[in-house]
Amino acid sequence: MNEADSEDIGAAFRRRGYELTDDLKKADAVVVNTCTVRQRAEDKAISQIGRLRKWKLARPDGKLFIVGCAAQKLGGKYLKNRFPFVDEVVGAKAIESFEDSLIAQLGPSPESETAHQNLFRSPQTAYVTIMRGCSLKCSYCIVPAVRGPAVFLSADAILEDAASKIKAGAKEIVLLGQTVNSWRGGKTTFSELLSKVLALPGLKRLRFMSPHPLFFEDDFTALLAREKKLARYMHLPVQSGSDRILKLMRRGYTRGQYLALLERLRAAVPDLAVSTDFIVGYPGETEEDFLDTLSLVEEGRFTMAYCFKYSPRTDRPEMAATVSEAAVQARLEKLLAAVKKNSRLVLNERIGKIEEVLFETETYGRASGNFAVRVKAGGAPGKIAEVLVTGAEKNTLSGKGLL
Ligand code: SF4
Repeated sequence: MNEADSEDIGAAFRRRGYELTDDLKKADAVVVNTCTVRQRAEDKAISQIGRLRKWKLARPDGKLFIVGCAAQKLGGKYLKNRFPFVDEVVGAKAIESFEDSLIAQLGPSPESETAHQNLFRSPQTAYVTIMRGCSLKCSYCIVPAVRGPAVFLSADAILEDAASKIKAGAKEIVLLGQTVNSWRGGKTTFSELLSKVLALPGLKRLRFMSPHPLFFEDDFTALLAREKKLARYMHLPVQSGSDRILKLMRRGYTRGQYLALLERLRAAVPDLAVSTDFIVGYPGETEEDFLDTLSLVEEGRFTMAYCFKYSPRTDRPEMAATVSEAAVQARLEKLLAAVKKNSRLVLNERIGKIEEVLFETETYGRASGNFAVRVKAGGAPGKIAEVLVTGAEKNTLSGKGLL
């Protein structure tokens, strides 16, 4: 979500005639888009702001904006007191008004159409935000507090955004939301929205991120089985393999329900690639709970997993860590090793199979299952081609392009 917001902010600057630069010396304005999902992210944002004091001294006429979730949580008053050289603070809840309220003050808007530019992924991929905020209440999560309850963008606005990004060169659209499959637009369901986006001319692949296990509708699996442009990949956060911890986390499902959902999705698309998120060291997590998480790695056949240590927050003493740092570190290392071993197995299973690859260069692309794929020759940026997988190394498949 922060990457997508950063791109929207970048695009707003470009519409006003600015160019993006990563050279501070050339910058007329600097935007720090902050994250607070973990304490460490917030600490990094604070250090980054501190380091910009030097830039502001050298460029007193330059503008320094602090935006995003940590800005929302800490507040403008606190940040401006601590860093008086900051010009404006815009929290995550007001990020959509950033262009009208602040960038507009910087200079004239030539109202020019600017090409889509993805700052974080390949130029062929574009993010389209379809909802903001989250109405769930996972016990460890700060998102609902800093981004507010779920608000869905209208189907028309989403289709317009996606169509303009495709027109500007995107071949792959990634629909984004904290619980992206909870999206509703009046009587239009999430699956119906997917169908409408899939029908846009020029689109070659559609992904969405991140769905929540609670919100898969019955019509989704049929759509997934039918629509080849819908990526054979899903990032489906599970967080823990222990029912006791899932309940404490208020995730709303059990391990068995999560696995049953995977089974249902894989019945529709047997080679569906699924990645996930895990948190280790949640307050009260016993060794037994952790072993349940460990065993889920293999049972879920995940292609990849983001594993995080539970992040205690200073402002939530009731949620302080109870597992020792050494034990959490040891669990994290075991989990990472299991994920690596399992990813290797899953990747090796792809050898000898045919993958549909969207190429980013002549020799590199992404399979529908989100695997990185290398070929010696035969690709072209923006082209979809079938590749026979002949090998797998680290996280990358290698293969031969098929005509
Ligand atoms: S569903 Fe995701 S964003 Fe929403 S509260 Fe839970 S972890 Fe946070």
